Amino acid sequence: MSTGIMAADVVTTYATNAIKQLMEHEMFIDIDVLNSINRSKREIIVEVPLRRDDGKYVTFRGYRVQHNDARGPFKGGLRYHPTVDLKEVRTLAHLMSLKTAVVNVPFGGGKGGITCDPRQLSGRELETLTRNFTNLLGDNIGPLIDIPAPDVNTSAQVMAWIADEYSKRRGQCWGVVTGKPLEVGGSVGREDATGRGVMLITREAAKELGLEMSRAAVIFQGFGNVASFAAKLIHEELGARVVGLSSSKGAVYNAGGINIEAAERYYRKHGSMKGFTGGEWMTNEELLAQPCDVLIPCALGDAVNARNAARIKAKIVVEGANDCTSVEADRILQQQGVFVVPDILANAGGVVVSYFEWVQNLNNHYWGIDQVRKELERIMVTAYNKISSVSRESRISMRLAAYTVAMERIARAMILRGG
Ligand code: GLU
Repeated sequence: MSTGIMAADVVTTYATNAIKQLMEHEMFIDIDVLNSINRSKREIIVEVPLRRDDGKYVTFRGYRVQHNDARGPFKGGLRYHPTVDLKEVRTLAHLMSLKTAVVNVPFGGGKGGITCDPRQLSGRELETLTRNFTNLLGDNIGPLIDIPAPDVNTSAQVMAWIADEYSKRRGQCWGVVTGKPLEVGGSVGREDATGRGVMLITREAAKELGLEMSRAAVIFQGFGNVASFAAKLIHEELGARVVGLSSSKGAVYNAGGINIEAAERYYRKHGSMKGFTGGEWMTNEELLAQPCDVLIPCALGDAVNARNAARIKAKIVVEGANDCTSVEADRILQQQGVFVVPDILANAGGVVVSYFEWVQNLNNHYWGIDQVRKELERIMVTAYNKISSVSRESRISMRLAAYTVAMERIARAMILRGG
């Protein structure tokens, strides 16, 4: 276990700017408290053992970074991916603290993961790895301590295994993780929550900029959980045309609009969009440069970078993925007058409904879908309006406004708690 370490450049760069902003406007005076938010509170590294199906004994590196819990228990996803490392998890944990503060739900921030390629693991191997990881985390997780959730490559099933393993020696405890299946303490509306939040934020941003969504063209980068729900909702509820979609192997573009349901069926069957006839096949980089009104990156991090930012034609970028724009790319987009809605606001719908799931678990009383959707919309729109008004009043970007609001909220909680 080590403590006091800082996240990657992107987050600390914006956090430093937010501190300057808060100090300049005398909105906040305790710079030491603000600076301390840049460091994680606890970082856990474990070596997770697994007996493979072929009898071979292997271990995988697992992480849980508990960034800040001043506003409530640590909260954030677990990702299973070959590129997972401490630096990435630390950055994502830091972003979670900011995200829960932006939408003002009573959580702090954390993130975890295992460096592995889940596609190379059988179902039994994945389950055993998950249970072993849960046991190694021990009492560092818990409904009032740290509550993991799904992230890249971790499903509702993975959450069910964690809840089951955690509950074995402690009594039934659904509230230890969110994003569970409905049958075992999950919440209605959790699965599409991030995508729905992205749709709501896109709607609000378009309204602010006077963009008529029913005539708008939208490009998605990625086609996983977030993009597939967001694409469907943006088409069905806002009437927009989805003109581009991509997978890790390449992308499809169709200026007239892609049939989302057909694309989804194809993607599920083939694991890629290659060969899909509903659009022109191109590289992901080419897709980013196609004409559109809204670009929604929903793939892994650093998708919008210094090499491709200048070619982006969208008027609005809504960050469906965490940490998907580099500092340099963000500067280029700003110079081009592109309106960027940052990840910590744009994709917060998932953690908002995680909060509802946790509340339902603690109360053992379950909500209907209308309540979940109504409350999600209220929280997302309130957060959007807050960040947008700070952005306009202080003439700063939406990202800097979001960081400023989040860091002020976290710092105030830290000071009130003392210690
Ligand atoms: N992994 C999601 C995120 O990055 C959800 C986290 C959660 O629900 O705790 O926001």
